Amino acid sequence: MRVLMHSCCAPCSTFPLALMRSLGYSVSALFLNPNIYPDGEREKRWLTMKEFAATEKMPLLRVEMSHESWLEAVSRDLVKPRRCLICYRTRLQETARIARQEGFRFFTSSLLLSIYQDHEGIVREGLEASRRHSVEFLYFDFRKGYRRSREMARGKHLYMQKYCGCEFSHGGEPR
Ligand code: SF4
Repeated sequence: MRVLMHSCCAPCSTFPLALMRSLGYSVSALFLNPNIYPDGEREKRWLTMKEFAATEKMPLLRVEMSHESWLEAVSRDLVKPRRCLICYRTRLQETARIARQEGFRFFTSSLLLSIYQDHEGIVREGLEASRRHSVEFLYFDFRKGYRRSREMARGKHLYMQKYCGCEFSHGGEPR
């Protein structure tokens, strides 16, 4: 059972990976996060993701979308949580498209781990992406593992960022 996991960052991917593997899924990760600002921060998270994937022997893919095009999309409505819904949409639509193209049966997202994000909004966007690209959205409420994920990330000495990702969350909106 192959699943493509959209990974927002390594710390948030720890618990979802462990849980899905324990259930028999074969997980590959996709780093597709044009929301992250500035570029240096995106590279830092990518390097951490690469390090984590190598340790876990998890196939990892990176797909680039420009931050400018992401910014153009969210600029339609910068007010949170609507801005975040557009942000989820840009990443989940593309994840579903790639999952379909690469022959995965399922896709999911590490965003489902966060206790700070709009969980129901992520689910809605996941289901919509699933409908549009004809690939199954694998839903788990990973939030029950949020604290565990922090412990796992600290145990693995992974870089843990202090804000969600975009320039609007620089003030410290957690991931
Ligand atoms: S706060 Fe996070 S989820 Fe919301 S728009 Fe910014 S990067 Fe995306």
